[in-house]
Amino acid sequence: MGNVYNFTDKHKPDSIKVYTEKEMLCMKCRACCNSLAFRMNRPTKDVLDFYRTRGCKIFEEDRDTVTILLENVPCPHISENGCDLYEKRPLVCKHFDGRTTNALKGICLWESMTS
Ligand code: SF4
Ligand code: SF4
Repeated sequence: MGNVYNFTDKHKPDSIKVYTEKEMLCMKCRACCNSLAFRMNRPTKDVLDFYRTRGCKIFEEDRDTVTILLENVPCPHISENGCDLYEKRPLVCKHFDGRTTNALKGICLWESMTS
């Protein structure tokens, strides 16, 4: 059986991308690519009401910070196969981690990873 795998690997075209566990989970989830979210520091009640009345959800992150989330605003680069410019995606996307915001608690599939 080992020989079969070696043979397959040796003849695998260079263009075949090997996805990491994180990338696979993101392709299945796509939650952060389908919504618009940003953080605010110490917003007033008026500011929060402004966003609430426009359909945004507000999540408290800590004593001073909230995340404003507007769902169903898909990024134009999201496709059936995930991000169509994944290797060249903006830095904000590269650094984003759904596990670090209450807005995606219970949604971000990276939470299921053990490492
Ligand atoms: S919420 Fe988490 S798993 Fe889902 S796309 Fe964003 S980073 Fe990936
Ligand atoms: S550029 Fe790619 S990773 Fe960033 S939000 Fe759009 S689809 Fe998601």
